[in-house]
Amino acid sequence: MFIRTVLGDKSIDELGHCQCHEHIYLEKGYSAEINPVLCIDDYNKSLKELTDYYDNGGRAIVDAQPIGCGRCADKLIDLASNSKVDIIASTGFHKLIFYPREHWIYKISQGEFEELMHKEIEEGMFINCNTNYPREQIDNKAGMIKVACDKQGLDNTYKKYFAAAAAVAKKTGISIQCHIERAETGMEIVDYLLESGVSADSIILAHMDRRVDTIKENLLVAKKGIYLQYDTIGRYKYHSDEDEIALIKNMCSEGYIDNLLLGLDTTRARLLSYKGTIGLSYIRKHFIKKMMDNGFNNEQIKSLLIANPKKALAKK
Ligand SMILES: [Zn+2]
Repeated sequence: MFIRTVLGDKSIDELGHCQCHEHIYLEKGYSAEINPVLCIDDYNKSLKELTDYYDNGGRAIVDAQPIGCGRCADKLIDLASNSKVDIIASTGFHKLIFYPREHWIYKISQGEFEELMHKEIEEGMFINCNTNYPREQIDNKAGMIKVACDKQGLDNTYKKYFAAAAAVAKKTGISIQCHIERAETGMEIVDYLLESGVSADSIILAHMDRRVDTIKENLLVAKKGIYLQYDTIGRYKYHSDEDEIALIKNMCSEGYIDNLLLGLDTTRARLLSYKGTIGLSYIRKHFIKKMMDNGFNNEQIKSLLIANPKKALAKK
């Protein structure tokens, strides 16, 4: 089994410490008009962040910005080559609030969108398509399907995109990672994807730790055998690290350590090289130690940050 990085396929045995939802480069565009922290466009600063991550033992990240929404595949390739960090790029779609009214995402048919994502995974990604329709293709491939929905969950506005993404996940064996706003909508997404034929071990629900009082919802989806991603670490407007660790501990004692993935969901506001708060290396430098102080052992840390990502990101 292998993982599809921007520089080629890599055996899962070669994957090291991996954070499964980050943003390391994001073109200044419409996303930044919605939220200024969604602009991460200084190549040297992004490289510095990744180099520091590598120097602290970080080995891989998933860049969760999908096609047409500020992703710059060409920059991710250069960053991976120059930092030695494995970067897994995303195809797929984000919340529709992040696309201007005239964007191609609204006009594309389900079939065309399916074909587009399929090409990104099996042939190569498209560049220069954050406003223009994707035409310019390179050889480097995407290794993740990012999908997203709003607070209300999987409503009609999102159905065609989800249907296309599910079909591509089934055909390619590449995992789907879903941005959700509320843990309560997780089950509906999981049920939809499972009913569409996507296998449970190819489904990742992101941001399941935004609220730490949602253990009930977390347990319900975990029982389905999917991956839950805790990527709100170091985002203190949501909760403290201590609360985060308590949630992880709870899930582990319920028997779900093998279903958890970790990340920081970095933006410009959190990357140190952009004068942000914590930096991409925060888990390596601080959070692991906090976990150990709270009773976690090496084996468990390795499960969360190496063994689980290997399985969750593998092309099946
Ligand atoms: Zn994100």
